[in-house]
Amino acid sequence: MTRLDGSHALVTGGNRGIGAAIAKSLAHDGASVTLLVRNRQAGEALQAQLPGHSQVVTADVTNPHAVNEACVRAVAALGAVHILVNNAGSVESAPFLRTDDALFARMLDVHLYGPLHCTRALLPDMLARQYGRIVNVASIAGVAGAPYITAYCAAKHAMVGLTRSLAKEVIGRGITVNAVCPGYTSTDLLLTGIENISARTGRSAADAQAAMLLHSPLQRFITPDEVATAVRWLCEPGAASTTGQAIIVDGGELA
Ligand code: NDP
Repeated sequence: MTRLDGSHALVTGGNRGIGAAIAKSLAHDGASVTLLVRNRQAGEALQAQLPGHSQVVTADVTNPHAVNEACVRAVAALGAVHILVNNAGSVESAPFLRTDDALFARMLDVHLYGPLHCTRALLPDMLARQYGRIVNVASIAGVAGAPYITAYCAAKHAMVGLTRSLAKEVIGRGITVNAVCPGYTSTDLLLTGIENISARTGRSAADAQAAMLLHSPLQRFITPDEVATAVRWLCEPGAASTTGQAIIVDGGELA
């Protein structure tokens, strides 16, 4: 028996980056895994690397109807979902005075409404079974400010607020709700960030990278596996008394 044997986990944006590392980690710990992705082909490429039972369902997390249908398909094929990991996300940066409502809406759509849609679809069954683990992949931008990403930062703060409030609402009913807040993590999202800094400032990619690591005690980026380790722990049955937390995985930068 492994720690997550008999569990069914649904991971949004599970085809690459942090989501892929989380999906692999949960699958290796015994969970059946549903990858909720936008692109079936990309999802199936990752699915081929997972041990045990897994499946791919497609939805854009910003579309509540598509999310509902995907969750119904997930449950029909692999049974009730015990673990929901709201990981899907993207970042758009701009100086505040060059942002507009549409940019804020895009960031809130994916980081607040996306998790809301998935949670609304799966929480009723968790409540009925008196068991569930919900983990929201937020960011250190969900607990601290950072320049040029006001919309992302506001949306991640909203995600952490949702986490804390919902955790209190379902306390004592077998369900925990937590956020994991990574610092800069080596994924495509980070590479895009480095490219954007280079394009806007004329700095080389190496200089942009060095600027991002200026305040990092580890002097390196976080790995997706390090984020996945924190998520997996929160998903274990034994983590029953950890709820409403925003667990920071940033190499000690905000310590
Ligand atoms: P990647 O860009 O590597 O992967 C993002 C994933 O999210 C992809 O699978 C992407 O799908 C999916 N996705 C994006 N938008 C949607 C949507 N509307 N509906 C469904 N899926 C969507 O990013 P990371 O792995 O780095 O990021 C994962 C999470 O971690 C995000 O929430 C991000 O904000 C957070 N994070 C990342 C940090 C970092 O430095 N990398 C630091 C802190 C937090 P597709 O392949 O179709 O594009």
